[in-house]
Amino acid sequence: NGVAARPHVAMLVTPGMGHLIPLAELAKRLARARHGGVTSTLITFASTASPTQREFLASLPSAIESVSLPPVDLSDLPSDAAIETRMSEECARSTPSLTALLSRLATTRRLVAFVADLFGADAFDAARDAGVARRCLFFPTNLHALTLLLHLPDLDATIPGEFRDLAEPVALPGCVPIPGKDILAPLQDKSKACYRWMVHHGEKYCDAETILVNSFDAVEPDAAAALRHPKPGRPPVFPIGPLIQTHEEDASVTTMPPSPRAACMDWLDRQPEKSVVFVSFGSGGALPTEHMRELALGLEMSGQRFLWVVRSPSDEDGEVNANYYDAETKKNPFGYLPEGFVERTKEVGLLVPSWAPQTKVLAHKATGGFLTHCGWNSVLESLVHGVPMVAWPLYAEQRQNAVMLTEGVGAAIRVPEAKGKEKIAVVVREVMVGEGRGAAVRDKVAELQKKALAGLRDGGAATSALDEVVAKWIGEEK
Ligand code: UDP
Repeated sequence: NGVAARPHVAMLVTPGMGHLIPLAELAKRLARARHGGVTSTLITFASTASPTQREFLASLPSAIESVSLPPVDLSDLPSDAAIETRMSEECARSTPSLTALLSRLATTRRLVAFVADLFGADAFDAARDAGVARRCLFFPTNLHALTLLLHLPDLDATIPGEFRDLAEPVALPGCVPIPGKDILAPLQDKSKACYRWMVHHGEKYCDAETILVNSFDAVEPDAAAALRHPKPGRPPVFPIGPLIQTHEEDASVTTMPPSPRAACMDWLDRQPEKSVVFVSFGSGGALPTEHMRELALGLEMSGQRFLWVVRSPSDEDGEVNANYYDAETKKNPFGYLPEGFVERTKEVGLLVPSWAPQTKVLAHKATGGFLTHCGWNSVLESLVHGVPMVAWPLYAEQRQNAVMLTEGVGAAIRVPEAKGKEKIAVVVREVMVGEGRGAAVRDKVAELQKKALAGLRDGGAATSALDEVVAKWIGEEK
């Protein structure tokens, strides 16, 4: 009847490279799974059709197709609507077109499962309407954040007032206690639509049959143990990470010429081993002008070499995550740096506008530290490459990631809240070459790197967890 024999999975990618990259990695792992190779379709939103995203999608192996949903009208949302609200609305309003798309896909493919990511749980209704057998949530961040969202409907009912006003940190099973002000950014103002959306998602997650999480036991052991206990009404949770961006050559990719090696890689080749701190705030992060200037001076004072992905400041571009949808900086970012900085540091520093090949940079032997916004993909990429971190969180769940990394597992040192150049310099030096705290962080990260890689091997925890889920999807479970 024309339906392809290979099992196929549809994945809905809510906006942001931080969601697309790990889902594409999941699709790559499915394609080479021992079960004969599961193919995938990545379903994206029209609002994120940026050059960065298009190039990324075009570079994927042929087992992974992509299709964009038609645009939906969001013009009735207030102009200051939070990014979480926009993504959630866009997803919910796309349900009819998604149902139609999935129904169409099912006529030509053996569609065994539908996967939605953290803002996409409303799409489970579309999957159900289209008759897709299995619904799966892919949670691209960590077990701490998942625990919080799964508890959120309860917390909403029992905690009056704002999280930031709580006298005690929020303590959840297996989790490092999180001070209220560090709790997930969209939960910081309960009168906002984004807060209600997150509570809604927390409820909706229980509509999945399975939850896959891009994390691994060693980085948050107690949270993993707590979630491993089955709980009525909560889908089983499978840590399948760290899934990070990989760059193996793939003969099936013929649409793109090989991309030229980025100039920053040649620069790294000329630097001594483990001497460079890589500075990047993810796909959308930007700093206020004041912080950008302190960071520049702090890097200079630290005496360390640096490679910095610079975007124009957030007070110029609009807000802290202004670049989230397209990752392209809006203005010439170098004009906001302190006078003389570029000239003074030209022997030890390299500035790159907008975007760097981050995983390649982290894999380079010259890279010795990562000053990061603590986006979860960045954290995992750092751990996989054994790079210790300086934590400078900005938005989303980044502040609570910084808490779990510094006070929990000990893989990072956090820049103090008041972002002064001296303090920045001290923390950078500590992580790169410090004896006490810095050495402990470097040892811990080396240990986590080993454990992360072990989990991804055949028979490792992450691989076995994914195999178990796939076996269920394709009807091979015992
Ligand atoms: N990234 C990159 N180059 C950059 C900035 C980001 O390759 O200059 C990649 C990075 O490697 C990671 C993703 O974009 O895979 C960012 O995801 P993360 O979760 O760290 O942060 P988000 O962008 O969601 O805030």
